[in-house]
Amino acid sequence: MSILKIIEYGNPVLREPCKEVSKISKKIKTLAMDLLDTMYKANGVGLAAPQVGVNLRMFVIDVSDPKGPINPTIFINPKIIKKTGAINSYEGCLSFPQAYTNVRRYSNVTIKALDIHGRPFVMEAKNGELLARAIQHEYDHLDGKLFIDHCRNRFEANQVLQKYNLPPVEEDRLIDEEFLEDEIVKYELEHPEVVEQQRKEQETDE
Ligand code: ZN
Repeated sequence: MSILKIIEYGNPVLREPCKEVSKISKKIKTLAMDLLDTMYKANGVGLAAPQVGVNLRMFVIDVSDPKGPINPTIFINPKIIKKTGAINSYEGCLSFPQAYTNVRRYSNVTIKALDIHGRPFVMEAKNGELLARAIQHEYDHLDGKLFIDHCRNRFEANQVLQKYNLPPVEEDRLIDEEFLEDEIVKYELEHPEVVEQQRKEQETDE
């Protein structure tokens, strides 16, 4: 078990699409354990292989209460097979120390993957819960995409990135999500109390 060095935004490694895992070897099992150790050490809820410089389609997630027992899940060669609904997600990333911004996400996702024994499993995450957002966030890493590519406001995102001495958003990487944005705005207009709650939570973070 080892703590690995987490690659930071600006390093081109984070933009490279990853390759499928061809065999769940001892090396892959060790990598899974190292990813978990590294994620826990950094107080993260997810970590993908490219974030430690390994170009393979694999990530780990644990969204359980940090005060309770651990509940890790390892995803190998994952595929999101269904995504519906839209939600605002205030996100950060271990490759972007301390920088958080509002991004667009689907609220419900279904993912299939292989576990550490090579057995297939399917996982469903709903209602914009942390698990649903973490799955989309980590899955993106495998395709060289980053959370800021989904930012709802590039000016707000750039302000935050600058504050933490990180490079600005890459304009040509911004993902066109007009449909998601429309859905989120519609939801926010109908639920002003949710927007107010989110605003308060973000203030306490700053
Ligand atoms: Zn990340």
